[in-house]
Amino acid sequence: MNLFRNTLAFCLLLTVFYSAGQTRRVIHIPDIEGYSTLKCDFHMHTVFSDGNVWPTVRVTEAWQEGLDAIAITDHIEYRPHSAEVVSDHNKSFEIAEPVAKELGIILVRGTEITRSMPPGHLNALFISDANPIDKKDVFEAIAEAHKQGAFILWNHPGWKAQQPDTTLWWEEHSRLFANKMLQCIEVFNGDEYYPEALGWAMEKKLTPFANTDAHDPIFNAGKPRTMTLVFAKSKDNEGVKEALFSGRTLAFCNNVVAGDEKLLGQLFNASLSFDEKPLNLKMKGRATVFIMNSSDISYELVLAVKGKEFEAPETITLKAGEITPVTLRGVSKEIESLEKLSMKYKVTNMLSGNGKNFEAEFSFTNF
Ligand code: ZN
Repeated sequence: MNLFRNTLAFCLLLTVFYSAGQTRRVIHIPDIEGYSTLKCDFHMHTVFSDGNVWPTVRVTEAWQEGLDAIAITDHIEYRPHSAEVVSDHNKSFEIAEPVAKELGIILVRGTEITRSMPPGHLNALFISDANPIDKKDVFEAIAEAHKQGAFILWNHPGWKAQQPDTTLWWEEHSRLFANKMLQCIEVFNGDEYYPEALGWAMEKKLTPFANTDAHDPIFNAGKPRTMTLVFAKSKDNEGVKEALFSGRTLAFCNNVVAGDEKLLGQLFNASLSFDEKPLNLKMKGRATVFIMNSSDISYELVLAVKGKEFEAPETITLKAGEITPVTLRGVSKEIESLEKLSMKYKVTNMLSGNGKNFEAEFSFTNF
């Protein structure tokens, strides 16, 4: 019985070691022209504030889940474990840094300034020292982060605990924005989406973000976690910083991508490929284009501008990692004199703010 129990314990132990994960998931999201697409999460917590994991776990999780860059952003003002976990505000970064180096994860030094609304919760990234940001006055704290060259984002602007009825932009945010102390806003936090924030991001040129704000260990059964896609010139801390200050990001959550229309288009086009050979579509004839989507994003399309002299499906799903046949049908004799066949689809899971979607134009050679 004891032997059995020991064997069982040994097996369980082995399972724990193996499932503790020595493999890294590959997230297929293509690079766009001139830039590497980095998968990033810039908002998460550890036991050094109100999280329930040790800092190194955040790094190994990120590695296993296929991320390229993270920021650990423990609260300055809210540290419920501080009786047991005694330290200054830089410790979680310092503990995580060697593991990040070992695994090749870009670790951005950050912190969360945690106040009631307004101005709410703000992350400061690329700081040099979190300790002097611990100030009584919130604007002094933000000014200190700004002095350190921080990239500052407004976290979960529509969080119900702080804005129960509506998502408002306050005078305090205008003040921060005017003083270049607000560069970015979370459009997604965890599974939450704030449409107003996407609108402000596009109007005011704030960098759109999607972060987990994880407090507990991350268990994602199969689906990619909420993340910010960063289009960087180089795959390092400086490259991430330059891209963020330049606004080159898209927010990605639950198969929805949000942000600048041009970047959405570049990502969409980089994800797809099809054979360019002429379709030779005739009246009452059919031609099929096989569209390959090599990304992990399934694109949902609804016909927005119909083609001339031919019919195309009203809706198409270009499934992640699959080839989708799209059949066109000629409806008139004139089709035989058209060299190009064009149509436009609204991509319903690509959001560009204020209720708008990215519209993709397809153009196929006919003869
Ligand atoms: Zn937070």
